[in-house]
Amino acid sequence: MTERKECYDCDQAREELDAFVRGDLPVDEADRMQQHLEQCGHCAEVTRYEQAFRDRLRRVGGSSCCPEEVRERIRDLLSREQGNG
Ligand SMILES: [Zn+2]
Repeated sequence: MTERKECYDCDQAREELDAFVRGDLPVDEADRMQQHLEQCGHCAEVTRYEQAFRDRLRRVGGSSCCPEEVRERIRDLLSREQGNG
């Protein structure tokens, strides 16, 4: 029974998850995503987690995406990586 499904499977859902959480998904695709989430508890949980995470980031960071501290740490890591290259 390998019927082509109209709704997403888990792999697809994971790929679209980021855009879905950001609200970047076209309406019909977001709709399909929603359908999958209703049927798939696991993906629904991951999505809820991602949404909560983004929500918290937005609340903490205000307009910028990450706090200055984190940004500096990332810059530090990046420069160190380049130095090793
Ligand atoms: Zn799934």
